[in-house]
Amino acid sequence: MRPWIGLTLAILVTLALGGCQRGVDGARILKAEAGDWLTYGRTYDEQRFSPLGQVNRDTVGKLGVAWWAAFDTDRGQEATPLEADGVLYTTTAWSKVFAFDARTGKPLWSYDPKVPGEKGFNACCDVVNRGVALWKNRVYVGTIDGRLIALNARTGAPKWSVQTTDPAQPYTITGAPRAVKGMILIGNGGAEYPVRGYLSAYDAATGALKWRFQMTPNPSGAPDHAASDPIMRSKAAATWGEGAWKKNGGGATPWEAITYDPKTDLIYAGTGNAGPWSDTIRTGAKGDNLFAASIVALHADTGAYAWHYQTTPRDAWDYDAVQQLMTADIMVHRRPRHVVMQANKNGFFYVLDAANGQLLSAQKFVPVDWATRVDLKTGRPVEAPGARYTGEGESHPRSGALGGHNWQPMAYNPKENLVYVPAMVSHGLYGDASGFGFTQGAWNTGMRRMPSGPAAAKLGTPQILAELAKEPPVGELIAWDPSHARPRWSVRYPQSWTSGVLATAGGLVFHAAGHELAAYDAATGKPLWTYDTQADAIAPAMTYEIAGEQYVALMVGYGGAGGMGGDQPRRKGRLLVFKLGGTMIPPAYPAPAETPPLDLTAAEPSAGDADRGGALFDQFCGTCHGGGVFLPNLPRSPAILGQVGFKAIVLGGALKAQGMAPFGRFLSDKDAEDVRAYLLWRAKTDDTARAVATGHAQ
Ligand code: CA
Repeated sequence: MRPWIGLTLAILVTLALGGCQRGVDGARILKAEAGDWLTYGRTYDEQRFSPLGQVNRDTVGKLGVAWWAAFDTDRGQEATPLEADGVLYTTTAWSKVFAFDARTGKPLWSYDPKVPGEKGFNACCDVVNRGVALWKNRVYVGTIDGRLIALNARTGAPKWSVQTTDPAQPYTITGAPRAVKGMILIGNGGAEYPVRGYLSAYDAATGALKWRFQMTPNPSGAPDHAASDPIMRSKAAATWGEGAWKKNGGGATPWEAITYDPKTDLIYAGTGNAGPWSDTIRTGAKGDNLFAASIVALHADTGAYAWHYQTTPRDAWDYDAVQQLMTADIMVHRRPRHVVMQANKNGFFYVLDAANGQLLSAQKFVPVDWATRVDLKTGRPVEAPGARYTGEGESHPRSGALGGHNWQPMAYNPKENLVYVPAMVSHGLYGDASGFGFTQGAWNTGMRRMPSGPAAAKLGTPQILAELAKEPPVGELIAWDPSHARPRWSVRYPQSWTSGVLATAGGLVFHAAGHELAAYDAATGKPLWTYDTQADAIAPAMTYEIAGEQYVALMVGYGGAGGMGGDQPRRKGRLLVFKLGGTMIPPAYPAPAETPPLDLTAAEPSAGDADRGGALFDQFCGTCHGGGVFLPNLPRSPAILGQVGFKAIVLGGALKAQGMAPFGRFLSDKDAEDVRAYLLWRAKTDDTARAVATGHAQ
């Protein structure tokens, strides 16, 4: 036998045995073999449509668990697993990476970037992570503390790590990197604090910065020496007035959507809300504030500006435009168009020409009353009277800050020409804070306080709150026809914070609400199969094929922006992987422990100012501890019973490893005691109110 024949045989044997890492590159992502899922949205167009059809309308009834894995964190799970060459790669909360044999579930390796627990305070919306990128035998992950890390795909060993943000600023990374043309693209989050958002491209091999595009002008007026400099100078700088944005850059963080389009060679990024939320406080209510709440198109090789479309000029409602940017070839007004589409937080579904950003259609996909319509000629929304708030006024439009659609990915079925949007219907409640003072490093939205102390309500009169309570938020899966800008079918859920979506050539749409994962008929919305995931899922399912068998994978675990204020207890994350005939039955979760009301006779009385403490609580504590039971419900926590122990946690950081940051840099001893006084007041009144409501008043 000649040597090369032996070599060829060895390669063939290796291929046949599987596990051969061919490596992922642009050509392979573009080819998009049916059984692969190589990038966040499966393909560069981010359609989340799989051509696999073994699991279909007729067979889905036989879908069962093939294997499952348990994780060590009970915070939100938002990742889309990727699959290449028989290996499934996923991430969990706290930016941890895991690799499994995709057929058997055998764990291959894991990597923990050891994010310091106190960095959790910088994450407005939970310490989540939405997944990895793959390129040339490497796996890339962004971390909550702003690092971008390259790992060996076979072993999980780190190859390089770069700090993509200023660690002194409250930046985070929760989004998945994207691998494009030998570069790793990564954004950041933090527009509620706010930070100044930007998109970066790093060399996949070395970690060297290739280019960066800032999404807002430099408040100092100086150049950034970035790809954004020319357009900042010529266009964006003049769209900002004077106000709090000068303190820290105006938000506009690209924390989710980054889409590469090989047809136009453009990268589309969606930017977060303008910060602070209040436009009066932010800029004196001046200008459009580019490029906040916008879709920005950049030339892939250089990061140079190509075009932009601002979905919410002078945003005042936290209307991030970061939702998935999906490219597709569809008919619009009876003409074939190459488009980019977005179901925005502000409730409008946008269809834009992918080459030049021309607005082709903008239609409400949920009830919206902040704007009556979008003018297709000017591209601008026609704002409704009363949508804005200033001074003593307030507004409560639909959608609210969670949006008509948040980060949860939608999916597209080209055969049906339907985009399946996991939508929400909800009101917001907005009003300027009086006497707003910017606090470096903390939450700075400029919003008036919610009713939160013994004194009268500060935001939302009792009448308005009662009106809003009649329309609690609901969730909806909407099958949206993007050519005619109208829904074909929809499903309503009592839960508003539902999962992302997967569409397949089997004629199925996978979507979870609560702890029920369902497969719907793509054409009609008829439910064909359901499965009890035991814990709520918010991540989207994905699918892949190995050795002729199709698998459907889903990360399970509640959390995120909607979860932190929700009423679901935390449960440890799981990865569930299904196939036809799967028979595994994951064990039941232990029943959540009920936290009983405190025995307040054991409390050290507080001389603190509960009203003042309520305001401080809203600014520094409310995002994590403001509602629900997801993170410790402080009016029921023994930590509030004594002054010394409370200060050790709140000011000293005694629980920082668990994610409770030390607040000594923001709060004085007196502040902490005022917060404790407020929480003791809540402990008394909340439980009295509960007892009355359940008819057990004593
Ligand atoms: Ca936001």
